Amino acid sequence: MSDLKVYWPESDPARQESSPAPVEVTGETSDEPEIYYFSEWVRKLNRPDLDPLALRARNLSLNRTCPGCSRAGVLPLMLNDGRIDGSGRMVPGSATLVGFRCEQCSHEWQP
Ligand SMILES: [Zn+2]
Repeated sequence: MSDLKVYWPESDPARQESSPAPVEVTGETSDEPEIYYFSEWVRKLNRPDLDPLALRARNLSLNRTCPGCSRAGVLPLMLNDGRIDGSGRMVPGSATLVGFRCEQCSHEWQP
């Protein structure tokens, strides 16, 4: 059994009594929390070229198998230009993806 608790704002009686003030969308200089709209997120999913992380994930997903031998042992090839975290290790997903290599037949290709 999980110890996770689900917070449901509409079921909180204290929250229902005091309705929240309407949120104004301001520039990036504000300290207010940023609101992400669902429609904007769906647009990014449908157009991965707008979001480099989505494009990277799509490339990794589309190149899971080798086009030469159709096996699944594919290694993504990345440049050594990723961000380094505080412990000196590269942040996963921050390096530039330049291609793929099959670990079975050594075939290489670009995304
Ligand atoms: Zn292969």
